[in-house]
Amino acid sequence: MSTNRKMRNLCRIAFMLAACTALTFMTSCKKEEVRDQGATIPDEVINRLQVIGLGTDDIQVDPEGGYLVEGCLHMTEEQIFEQFTDLTVDGGTELEQYRTYNLVSVPGSTRTIRVRGSTNLSTKMSNALNTAIARYNSEGLKLVFQRVTSGSYDILVRRNGTSTGASAGFPTSGGNPYNTVNLGSGLNNIQENTVARVIMHEMGHCIGFRHTDWFNRSLSCGTGGSEGADPYGAVNIPGTPTGNDASSVMRACFSNGQAPTWSNYDRTALNYLY
Ligand SMILES: [Zn+2]
Repeated sequence: MSTNRKMRNLCRIAFMLAACTALTFMTSCKKEEVRDQGATIPDEVINRLQVIGLGTDDIQVDPEGGYLVEGCLHMTEEQIFEQFTDLTVDGGTELEQYRTYNLVSVPGSTRTIRVRGSTNLSTKMSNALNTAIARYNSEGLKLVFQRVTSGSYDILVRRNGTSTGASAGFPTSGGNPYNTVNLGSGLNNIQENTVARVIMHEMGHCIGFRHTDWFNRSLSCGTGGSEGADPYGAVNIPGTPTGNDASSVMRACFSNGQAPTWSNYDRTALNYLY
């Protein structure tokens, strides 16, 4: 079993624990009550679940409201359609993983990037930051991310603003990562796993990743067009597909419930660049 698959399964288990506790045996003991055989699943719900990367083979209507997705992930309609957009102002271009012109330089065999969490991070944000750093480091890249609690840093992750979104920037012309990730306090209202995914995404910008759907934000956001390739650049990364990568962490918009898991092509892109 691949690490990716394992991680996905672990996340599913975590979801199941959280969701099933709330549902009080709905799935394990009284499954027939959950399955409303007469109810049909609206196409827009199925389409939306596909967009946010969740399975659509096993969707059940919860008679008390919402749906049971992938067997045991309870989601209200609001959660399914909820979106929070990345606020990074960046350009954006085609159907592959993309990088900016500037990248982080790696003078030796590895380069340590010190990531400091601001003291104003919530516990959820702080935990999510640890998860995000671990996801990068588990790839064995030339960039090694190290969390520091004081002193100088390369990237500061801080709570800033009230939105349910986040922002960052791109590497400098001198080969340094962008030095700030802003997390809106609205992120405290979503799952910690998804906050971790958001931080992975913003750190991705800091080291030179564009949105994989920069050429058409509506692929993940439902609305919006191209972010434009320049001035930052949107350079295709070899080995990534010429199609929409629905699982990429670097899509422009997220939904609550999405896991902190790289897509296979995210991995290809990370390992190609670093
Ligand atoms: Zn972004």
